[in-house]
Parts: sequence; C-alpha cells; structure tokens
Amino acid sequence: MKLNAIVLAMTTAIAALALTGCGDDGENGAVGATGPAGQNGTNGQNGNDGRDHTAVNQWFTQGQATVANASETSVSDPKGRAKNIILFVGDGMGVSTLTAARIYQGQQRGESGEENRLSFETFPYSGLVKTYSSNQQTPDSAPTMSAIVSGVKTKDGIISVSDAAIRGNCTSGQGNEVMSALELAEIAGMSTGVVSTARLTHATPAATYSHSVERNWESDRDMPQAALDAGCHDIASQLIDFPYGDGIEVALGGGRSYFMPNTVTDPEYARAGRRNDGRNLTTEWTSKYSDGAYVWNREQFLAVDTSTTHHLLGLFENSHMQYEADRADDAAGEPSLAEMTSRALDVLKQNDKGYFLMVEAGRIDHAHHAGNASRALQDTVALSEAVRVAMEKADNDTLILVTADHSHVFTIAGYPVRGNPILGLVRGVDDSGEAAATYTTDSNGMPYTTLGYANGPGFGFGSDAMNTDSYRPDLNLYNVTDVDYRQEATVPMDSETHAGEDVAVYARGPGAQLVTGSVEQNLLFHVMNYAGDLAARAEANQN
Ligand SMILES: [Zn+2]
Repeated sequence: MKLNAIVLAMTTAIAALALTGCGDDGENGAVGATGPAGQNGTNGQNGNDGRDHTAVNQWFTQGQATVANASETSVSDPKGRAKNIILFVGDGMGVSTLTAARIYQGQQRGESGEENRLSFETFPYSGLVKTYSSNQQTPDSAPTMSAIVSGVKTKDGIISVSDAAIRGNCTSGQGNEVMSALELAEIAGMSTGVVSTARLTHATPAATYSHSVERNWESDRDMPQAALDAGCHDIASQLIDFPYGDGIEVALGGGRSYFMPNTVTDPEYARAGRRNDGRNLTTEWTSKYSDGAYVWNREQFLAVDTSTTHHLLGLFENSHMQYEADRADDAAGEPSLAEMTSRALDVLKQNDKGYFLMVEAGRIDHAHHAGNASRALQDTVALSEAVRVAMEKADNDTLILVTADHSHVFTIAGYPVRGNPILGLVRGVDDSGEAAATYTTDSNGMPYTTLGYANGPGFGFGSDAMNTDSYRPDLNLYNVTDVDYRQEATVPMDSETHAGEDVAVYARGPGAQLVTGSVEQNLLFHVMNYAGDLAARAEANQN
C-alpha cells in the first residue's frame, strides 16, 4: 500500500507543520507518535490518537477500490501514463449552465446556437458526478473541491481536511489534513500551478494548496485569535509558506489584499491591505524564489519572460477578478482566463517531470448567486476558451479534466423556437411549426424569459413593475438581454443558492477512460492519481 504510506507520511508532516510554534509540547508529542505507525486501522479515525488518515477514510478507500476495479475490468491506459494533468473547474457550472452557454456562444457567432459545442464537449469521455458533501445534500465549494483534489469528501466549509474535523475548530483539524494532488505532484518533482478568476484564497483554489477547518480564514484578520493561538494558519500564508517540493510555480488570480499588510496601500485602489500580521506575502514570494516574479496587472503579466521566470505570482484584483463581461473596463487591466492558462503552461511545460495545473472559472458561481445569467454564461464561454488553449498547448501525454464543483438552481424553460436568443423572452412556434409572431405568455398573458432561477434576488423586481394579475414583473418593461438583467426567481432570497443535482465531467488523454458513468466526486482525485501515479512518484522522490 505505497499510496497509503505516502499519504500517511505526508499527513504527519503537515500536522507537524501546522503545530509549529504552537508551543504545546503535548500536542507535538502526539504528532510524533504517528510517525512509525502507518498501519491500516491502528491510526485511523477511531484510533488512539484520533487521527483520520486516508488509509482508513471511507471516501478515500472506496475511490481507490473503484479505480482499481475499473482499471482491471475495462480497457484502460496503464497507471502512470499521464505525464501532465490539467484540471479545469467551472465553479457552479451545472449542466443547465453548459447548455445555455453553448447556445450563447453559438449565437454570439451568428448561429442559432443549439448545435454549437463548447471546447471540452468534444472530449471522448464524460460522466456524471455526485456532489453531496459528507454532511449536506447540497454542498458549497470547500468540500466539493476538497473531494476532487484529495479523494476525500468532507463537511461544508472545510478545506482539504477530513470530516473528522469540526468546522471552525482549529485543533479538531490538526492531524486530519489530507494530501492534495497538487501537493503530491510537488513532492514528485513536478511543476504545479493554480489559476482562478476568484480570489486565490477562495475555497476552490485554496483546496489545492492549503488546509483549513474554515474556508473563511483567508487572511489572519479573518481568523479568531483562539485559532491563531492554537497554531492554525490563514489560507494566503499557506500559499507562500507551501512546504513541498520547490514550491508552487504558478499562482494567478485575484485576492491581492489578502497578501498585503494593512500598512500598505493597494496599487490599483485607495485601500490598505488586509493582513494584521505585517507580512507582505507578495514581496516574500520574490524573496523566497530567486527565479520568481510578482505582477498585478495585464501589462506586467504579458511582459514576464516565461523562460526565465519559474515562480510566477499574479494578483490582478484586490478581491475577485472582474467578470469576463467587465474585464475590458478594468482600470489596471486584467488577463483573460485563457491568457492566464496559456502562460501558466509556458512556465510549467519546462519541467521534464511534468506538471499539475488547476484552472478555475471562479465567477460563474458569483454571477449565478446574483441571479445574473448573462455574466455567468460569458464566464463559462471564457472557460471554454481557456480549455481550448490547453487543448492546443498540452501534449498528448496530458490528462485534461473539465468539471464543476456543484450546480445552481438555474433553469432553461418554455418552448422557444430554435435559435431564439438564449437571454431573451420565449417566442415559440405556431401551429404549423414556424416561428410565432408574438411572445409566448404565462397563464395571465405575461411574457417570460427562457432562463430563470428557482430562488434568488430576481424575485418580483419591486412593486412598481408588478403585474397585479400574475404577481410577476411585466417583462415588456425590461431589457431582458441587458448584461445587468437579473432573471426572475420563484423564491425571494438575497443570494441565489447552489443546487444538489449531479454535474458533468469531461476527460481526454491518458486515464480518461476511467471517467464514465455516474461517479462520486472524490473519485476524480483517484482518476488523476492513477493516471499520473502521483502518490507512488511522490513517495519514490521523497526517499
Ligand atoms: Zn514546484
């Protein structure tokens, strides 16, 4: 069980790191006690030291067994065939989002839209992914991304720590950290990268490189003093203090303020940094890596020499990056997701041992939460373009996965005629099947849009616009295709919610055959681990 051994060893190493400086000799002693163990069962969730090692974690062992079984009973590439792995995650990119974005992209090109395919819809293998977390039917991004990159489902709000931990309880997480594919890749000597249009400290990117019992502990300011005293570290600091291999090679996204002290003013906005501990993690990056660079706008980013810069940190917004729909209006200039993916690959491809890259379209989720389909679809198209770049740039020895962490309560409804504007009002067909002359109406004679939400801020639009017969806004008064338009919602909520149905996964490259049917979300780690033989390579490189 080499895989178990490496994960056991690394779990112990992380625990030791997490406890550094906590000054409690008793706790450090407990960590030491796990060192020689490594036996299945003795050290597990119910073991004497209370640790939840992946060797006895049900999610981990079930995923392992599923991959082992599939690789024996179906035609499959041998273990370790993939030199490189690229994982794309559309945050909140449910199946209805894919369908609507596919039509949107086609219509932007002047086509009817339905026949279009997003770049990754051409991949040879696909499947459905169950997204529930270990304690919720409908999850958030923390446990879902943890499952994808560590092979272990956990509780909502928790990042790459098993569900033996209690959310927000620092000490409950110590010793229960689970290794991510990115960490294993670093130990194996591969190059690694994390790219996101959200804050790099946000749940999805954070799960690749950090461990936290609370997803909101993005900077030290966001943590209770008790957690700091107990030896837990904020997520931003974990990116810079990353202890494995030669460090993460590429980190591109938003969230600049979480990396800057409150004594320094942001270069783009008249705001101070967020950190109370005085650390400037952007300058620490360039101090730590002699071949490193830090950039914060598109011009600097495009000027980076990727042949000589081997550790690239780019933080392009104070918080999340702009939506693709607004990117051109950004004062300082921001790269697109495709540009970030392209240059990340330029840096990572130079390592003969291969690379692991995670790319997140982080703002699909945010636009949906706002009930704003237009921006969600445009960010989905931006992800499709980023995948296209990777398809062109990555060699055949690269496993590419495209998936989502969870869905949204986003619907495509009515009987619009083929080619009807996807953001528009529903116009159906007449009795002969030709496009109708007027909009389709509800039971009170009111038009409605094809796209909508089961809940969210788009309920009612305020009493002025309310039609008293239908209790719906009169959409004749609105420009429903405007980029700022919020689609109607059935249940009034300040923020639209996630949905609980399956999401899709698409795969191509070595090991892609394992992506088929209906699978648990934590299986995706095991597919990547099989394809890249990450744990065994990590263990071999460590000894
Ligand atoms: Zn590295």
